[in-house]
Amino acid sequence: VEPRSRLFREVARAALADERLQRALAAGTDRLRQERDRAFAALPDGEALRDRARAIKARSLAQLDRLLAQLAERVEARGGRVHWAADAAEACALVTEIAGRDGGRRAVKSKSMTSEEIGLNAALEGAGVEVVETDLGEYVVQIAGETPSHIITPAIHKTKDEIADLFARHHGAPRLERHEELTREARERLRARFLAADVGITGVNFAVAETGTLAIVENEGNVRMSSSLPRRHVAIMGMEKVIPDLESLAVCLRLLARSATGQKMSSYVSLITGPRREGEEDGPDELHLVVLDNGRSRLLADPALRESLHCIRCGACLNVCPVYRHAGGHAYGWAYPGPIGAVVDPSLAGPERAAPLPFASSLCGACAEVCPVRIPLPHLLLRQRERVVTARSAERAAGAGGGALERALARAFAWAMASPARYRWASRLARVASLPFARRGWLRRAPGLRAWTASRDFPAPARRSFRERRKTS
Ligand code: SF4
Repeated sequence: VEPRSRLFREVARAALADERLQRALAAGTDRLRQERDRAFAALPDGEALRDRARAIKARSLAQLDRLLAQLAERVEARGGRVHWAADAAEACALVTEIAGRDGGRRAVKSKSMTSEEIGLNAALEGAGVEVVETDLGEYVVQIAGETPSHIITPAIHKTKDEIADLFARHHGAPRLERHEELTREARERLRARFLAADVGITGVNFAVAETGTLAIVENEGNVRMSSSLPRRHVAIMGMEKVIPDLESLAVCLRLLARSATGQKMSSYVSLITGPRREGEEDGPDELHLVVLDNGRSRLLADPALRESLHCIRCGACLNVCPVYRHAGGHAYGWAYPGPIGAVVDPSLAGPERAAPLPFASSLCGACAEVCPVRIPLPHLLLRQRERVVTARSAERAAGAGGGALERALARAFAWAMASPARYRWASRLARVASLPFARRGWLRRAPGLRAWTASRDFPAPARRSFRERRKTS
């Protein structure tokens, strides 16, 4: 999958000028944010729960190899098959091979960010397997020929009117007005797909090592149908999704729904332990679990960024991020948008492909405040920035050119900050140098600050510094 994160600035600029998109993003993220806040305000042990979830994720990562081995052993003991995929290509090859067995040609799929990460739909279609998204938001973006723009609500960038037009065009049916009618129409179309599918593909929210249970949450019932109606069920999970036991699952589930949508619990929580057993009426003949690495081992071995693997993909950090709320998910150019995407994309997709993302943050800290597992996102963003800058400097030192002015400025800044006398001298110099550009206390356009002043004013240095005023007071 080729991320388009390099184009962040261009796509974000176009998004900012799109009034319809701005309205859709504001309405969607405001609603999710308010629901989340309400749910936590009504949860007396919310803070303690967050601490527990953080500890569970840290403990799980510390013994990831043991837990994954235990999970695999328990899944297989219950009749499932476990497959290990080192990267996206391996995962896609595994799933397409399983889906195509015995002439399989039709797949239904529920929402899975891991499948977006590996570009599974394109791989399946390339292998001649027709795949239909069954989550309503995913269905909308699939028939629109787009990608999801939010972890939880994939079509958050679309208004109801746009969806009404899209359905009328795609379904060749009269245009419907009401939410309920649109949902009913999609449901009617999808029902036949579930019944005809050879394989059902889902993600996994948590995998319980102790029992070999896959926990999948949803609100529409489509996961349950995708995992129980077709003969084969393929579940795809990033390897960090494993947790030790059912007690840990209870903690994580209480937080996930509240953080994502403000619900106490998702409408459906499927706990899948093996394929259909003898005497059972429902369930697939085969259950395949694909465990994906795709750069996660690198994150795990990286003490500076390891905590990003605590993420339970609730999407709460997106809804409060001033950058995501305006740029929208497509600007990030890959599966994971928002603050968590800006942290993990450079490591998972490759730093050269996602270099602009760590800079797409005001570092206001709102993301860390809402993160249910307390990931210190602003600190991780700074670490990713440091790496991008270091890599660029190394490239330039190796003769890739450019950046001489930036390096000289950084050196001059470091020199000036190293002694009080130089700092005073530099402050005075800045005051004098800014005089020609200052208007009523603000710099509206100044050399060296062009990127900042293009979209907002910069405060001009005060006529008298704090130290000078203090001396004369
Ligand atoms: S980083 Fe935290 S808030 Fe953001 S999606 Fe992950 S768990 Fe949710």
